[in-house]
Amino acid sequence: MSQELTNLIDGVWQDTTEHVDVLNPVDGSVVGRIGYGGLEHAQAAADAAAAALPAWGGTPARVRADLLHRAAELISARAEEIGLLLAREAGKRLPEAVGEVRFSAEYFRWFAEEVRRPHGAVHPQEAQERRHLTFRRPAGVVASLTPWNFPCSIPARKLAPALAAGCTVVARVSEQAPLAATELVRCLTDAGMPPGTVNLVHGAPAEITGAFLDHPAVRVVSFTGSTPVGRKIMSQASSRVVRPLLELGGNAAFIVFDDADLDAAVTGAMLAKFRNTGQSCIGANRFFVHASVHDDFVARFSAAVDAMSIGDGLASPVPDLAACIDHRRVRAVNGLVEEALDAGAKKVTRDFSLPEGAFCAPSILVDVPDRVGLATEEVFGPAAGIFRFEDEEEVLQRANATEMGLAGYFYTRDQARIWRVGEQLDVGITGINNALPTVAFAPMGGTKQSGLGREGGSLGLEEFEETRYLSIGI
Ligand code: NAD
Repeated sequence: MSQELTNLIDGVWQDTTEHVDVLNPVDGSVVGRIGYGGLEHAQAAADAAAAALPAWGGTPARVRADLLHRAAELISARAEEIGLLLAREAGKRLPEAVGEVRFSAEYFRWFAEEVRRPHGAVHPQEAQERRHLTFRRPAGVVASLTPWNFPCSIPARKLAPALAAGCTVVARVSEQAPLAATELVRCLTDAGMPPGTVNLVHGAPAEITGAFLDHPAVRVVSFTGSTPVGRKIMSQASSRVVRPLLELGGNAAFIVFDDADLDAAVTGAMLAKFRNTGQSCIGANRFFVHASVHDDFVARFSAAVDAMSIGDGLASPVPDLAACIDHRRVRAVNGLVEEALDAGAKKVTRDFSLPEGAFCAPSILVDVPDRVGLATEEVFGPAAGIFRFEDEEEVLQRANATEMGLAGYFYTRDQARIWRVGEQLDVGITGINNALPTVAFAPMGGTKQSGLGREGGSLGLEEFEETRYLSIGI
């Protein structure tokens, strides 16, 4: 990739005067460099998006779909190369990084197909001389704001539906892992997206975001990140009544009922907890295990954790657990573990010797008091607290006793319970005997303080559209 031409404004890759190195969390080596833009770059990007909107919004859906398909092909063709960059900048395991890039292409494919479906309706007439119909139009310029944990697939989940809907986009990506996302955007321009349809500006978070939100053409802000920053974005968006789509933090319960297939539950727990080194918004955060299977589950889960290898995500053979994004994240996770141990919890996994770099040992704690951070906060790392429960009603009450409502998981063989608990877990996404619910066609999003709106699926397209109603006298 180009070391300097990292900002895209009106179809032109540009340099800026300030440059920031992107560091590998494993060894601190420089992976790449991005140009930091400022207010004037953000405003120019939004101007370009505004200018491109009428033509792109008026482009036939078939043509938009063809371009998105072409972009998907380029992303897939470059998956190894972009995945390597992603693994290096975010410390990820290489297969997970390459998988993330391939999954990003899937969003472009799916929305290219979805946008060709008919939408709108002719409603029953109220009177002989009137007809009523509704149809959908692009909502306007979209500001896309994304975090570092899935720095390629999260921007893809916003750009693909926004562009499919006929919106133009101004994007800012996390300064901690901006390189793969920049290459994702390069696939879009290389696929032939017209100048101004997609723009990318790196830079200081509040400054760039503020300039996007102040621009009169920006009508939707789609943000993924923490709940505190989401609140700020929502409040800023309110001043111009910009539509907020917010994908925020989680605190997922992972419930193991007494009739669960314990082998499947342990496999699921490993995936739901340790995928992406635990840095996943839908990652399992609190494990509730029925008292009758508690000790058995804990023994199997901790044996699986004790067998984990830890190391550089680029090493061969690929380790089971890679680095965290930075030392700050490692300290935050270790702090939650120490707090729980001080409050009486017990660690049931072994001590690991860790390589140099931003590594965090995986750990499982039992007898965790309900009030400590390991229970109440989003851990966002490879530590798991296990809580014992006695009955379904009690566990539902405890699982729902949080202001977050992004994801939840449960394992059971009882069909009636699948419906009961599936309906009562107060979350947007539930994995039932399944630890990996993320697919391009499903609506992802949360309840309560986990966010507003849905991403993915046909709802994810509608979030970038306005419904228009025509009442026609004939
Ligand atoms: P974060 O909120 O700190 O940052 C997210 C993005 O916002 C980054 O690009 C950051 O640079 C930017 N930002 C930070 N402060 C800002 C400000 N004042 N104004 C404007 N932008 C600002 O989150 P993070 O640490 O990058 O990501 C982890 C969080 O994201 C976790 O809470 C996680 O649950 C959440 N997340 C949610 C989902 C989801 O789909 N719900 C997906 C992934 C991550």
